[in-house]
Amino acid sequence: MKNILFAFIAITSILSNSYNIYSQSKSAITNIADSGTIGLIAENIDLASSYANTITQDDLKTLVYKLASDEFEGRRTGENGQKIAAQYLVEFYKNNGIIGANKDSSYIQIIPQNYFRGRSKNNSENIVAFIKGSEKPDEYVVISAHYDHVGIEDEKIYNGADDDASGTSAVLEIAQAFQDAVKAGIGPKRSIIFLNVTGEEEGLFGSKFYTEFPIFPLKNTVANLNIDMIGRVDKKHEENDNFVYLIGADKISTELHELSEAANKKFTNLKLDYTYNDEKDPNRFFYRSDHYNFAKNGIPIIFYFNGVHKDYHKHTDTADKIRYDLLEKRTQLIFYTAWEIANREERLAIDKE
Ligand SMILES: [Zn+2]
Repeated sequence: MKNILFAFIAITSILSNSYNIYSQSKSAITNIADSGTIGLIAENIDLASSYANTITQDDLKTLVYKLASDEFEGRRTGENGQKIAAQYLVEFYKNNGIIGANKDSSYIQIIPQNYFRGRSKNNSENIVAFIKGSEKPDEYVVISAHYDHVGIEDEKIYNGADDDASGTSAVLEIAQAFQDAVKAGIGPKRSIIFLNVTGEEEGLFGSKFYTEFPIFPLKNTVANLNIDMIGRVDKKHEENDNFVYLIGADKISTELHELSEAANKKFTNLKLDYTYNDEKDPNRFFYRSDHYNFAKNGIPIIFYFNGVHKDYHKHTDTADKIRYDLLEKRTQLIFYTAWEIANREERLAIDKE
């Protein structure tokens, strides 16, 4: 999650942006939490649990502790720690038999240094992995999280465990679960792109680059599920911590919102908090993570988020503070949602463009 300074820059650029879907959809239903009437219709949805259950808190914990260790030096865009993290992600996919999204099956999408407008000292890299759909390989579901963070300041390493080692670990575990389904012969009907972006903290550069130079056509990209900070509990939910914030789900596709609600109702039973989905919310989180670059291109998105907390963008955002039980549940919800989007007969209908 990038800080508010950049959010203001984003807002300014939006005012001059003809793609302003956000203001075009002001008629969105306010009480959206009450919908969720269409249910789950993908034919093999009942098989999803056996793969969702491979997403465990122990596995997530191992990944978060690794990505948020001092060895990764706070993963600042263009710097040594980010490069080490990139290599770690590539190795993870390779070890799990998941290929890269490039034509030659490699994983790295290089972003030139000058793209970062002075905010990176070097080139940087998106890491993009790919599972080919069994029936509709030319339609794509993108599952994303940023793996960069803010590096080292005043000799303190900013480990970024929640922001966003939590989301990165979720993407890896979801990829592994889908790959297990592939091995069992029930891989997803649509293709799935696992997009680990760089440059988020510097201004959403990795996702901006991907959407400007997409490896697969954006017009065939049916949804983006973006994960940024899902391992903690904010102040509002200290008493009732079985929750996650969802942002943007109904802004472009009502169907996406409804299937997301249905997946949660059937499988995970988290309280889905839509507070920040309100267009009048002053935090304007809708503009502050990588899904925004997909939404502005008219692609249905959901942003999964746990809210801010006292360790947000501090060197104290460490792996020991992550709630791995919640991280597991939230990751499973995203997996079920992706499974349904990837496997239902028709691609998501867009009704709010
Ligand atoms: Zn952040």
